[in-house]
Amino acid sequence: MAAPNGTPSNSLVDIEKPPSSIFLNNEFVQGQGDVLPLFNPKDGKKIPVEVRAATEEDVDKAVRNAREAFETGPWSKWTGEQRMKALTKLADLVDENGPAIAYLESLCSGRPLSMLLGEIPRVSSTFRYYAGWADKLKGDSYPAEDGFYKIVRKEPLGVCCGITAWNASLMFCSWKSGPALATGNTVIMKPSEKSFLGTLAIASLVQAAGFPPGVFQVLVGDGKVGSLLSSHMDIDKISFTGSTATGKRIQDAATKSNLKRVTLELGGKSPALVFDDADLDKALFWVTLGITVNTGQVCAATSRLFVQKSIADAFLEKVKASLGAMSQALGGDPQDTATHYGPVVDAQQFQKVTDFINEGKKRTKVLTGGQEYQKEGYYIAPTVFLDPEPDEKIWREEIFGPVLCVKTFETEEEAIQLANDTQYGLSSAIFTSDIARALRLASSVRTGTVNVNCNLMVGNQAPMGGFRSSGVGRELGEYGLAQYTETKTIWIR
Ligand code: NDP
Repeated sequence: MAAPNGTPSNSLVDIEKPPSSIFLNNEFVQGQGDVLPLFNPKDGKKIPVEVRAATEEDVDKAVRNAREAFETGPWSKWTGEQRMKALTKLADLVDENGPAIAYLESLCSGRPLSMLLGEIPRVSSTFRYYAGWADKLKGDSYPAEDGFYKIVRKEPLGVCCGITAWNASLMFCSWKSGPALATGNTVIMKPSEKSFLGTLAIASLVQAAGFPPGVFQVLVGDGKVGSLLSSHMDIDKISFTGSTATGKRIQDAATKSNLKRVTLELGGKSPALVFDDADLDKALFWVTLGITVNTGQVCAATSRLFVQKSIADAFLEKVKASLGAMSQALGGDPQDTATHYGPVVDAQQFQKVTDFINEGKKRTKVLTGGQEYQKEGYYIAPTVFLDPEPDEKIWREEIFGPVLCVKTFETEEEAIQLANDTQYGLSSAIFTSDIARALRLASSVRTGTVNVNCNLMVGNQAPMGGFRSSGVGRELGEYGLAQYTETKTIWIR
């Protein structure tokens, strides 16, 4: 494996010998389960690392370590300032080792290295953002007018666990472990079996950042490991990112075990609304980005496009030209920084998205794309369907690939009705030059995030999460922080 440009010679992450085991008590140890094969999605070839999955025994061990670190280990006595310093150091190490982390993540996920190199500063900035909170946490107090002085404290939950999907594992790692550690919890990460090299690479920085053993651990394995974690009696919280179906299973397992706290960041079928007074070239940029970035494998991907009738023909011509050009350039090597559109994550996801497209083609007109890629690798051309029927799977279900469904509308009311006609409610995008209209729509569209004249926005300070089947709770910002504490009231007579 060749080092990407910019990899420092003293990198703590060695891409020749990537971490190939689970990370317990600040040490890499081999899991006791089956070997987890990893394939490079650009050609389907095996990646030469041998990692064994965690077993139930490994899971129990990780939880015991985390519990001990939380209750009696040095971590339990750390001050906010100490936590701030370690999280800041971790952020610095992520930056220093960014090229190697990004490269390893690109190998197993097929995500373009160009994109992952841009994501590294976002990962480190989330660690830094939460480092900033660690020594500023506070509670409330109420006067003893009734003879009782009241103190309200925010206390860490205990052992927290982050279960993450393959599509942005590095960012999810920082979104979950950052606030958990800032508030004094211990954390166990369980990345997807499809893309865990980047998360393990971050684990290899944990000791150098100064975290004591048991504070930040990583277990690799498939859904069975996730299921053991979500039903574990000694885990206090699961923060999950992935499909709505798995999210429901996790919530169910949490309820049936110890009623652990659960945050769910789930799927979507997000709408983009383009009005005739919008800057159409800017709208085109954001709309096409919304369904092609990460090859459409984004929870907030804008997979439903609604265009006002008066401009529909002109706008859709632009969409066709832009996405059609991308289809001509399929097959770029994701490990080459000149590539910006990669394959989907694996053969299973390729088949799933292809099945959606083939089924859609039976009933609905294709504006662009739809043809099957004939060479090696799991590449899928951006595909646009025109006016699918309301009962079609391509219209109703999350596809998690570069597939866009388009409808037209005449009035604002019609646009709102179409946008809200889904079980999901993660994100939406509105393109108009009329701020009053933008604000009216922002109130009426039922999504956790509304983007006006932009799309897929996410940042440290602002909460992110879904209405309806798109999730429970929020990540990022102060709202994300609050998901990792329990509130305690003390009455003093
Ligand atoms: P899942 O939602 O099934 O997996 C996400 C994470 O949960 C992975 O770490 C997975 O482990 C783990 N997991 C799986 N089953 C369980 C379980 N019963 N209990 C606890 N954890 C579990 O996504 P998939 O990878 O299977 O993808 C399936 C579909 O989900 C995709 O095609 C896509 O449509 C959608 N999806 C949506 C995402 C979003 O952000 N909206 C993100 C990812 C997927 P492992 O992968 O190792 O089995």
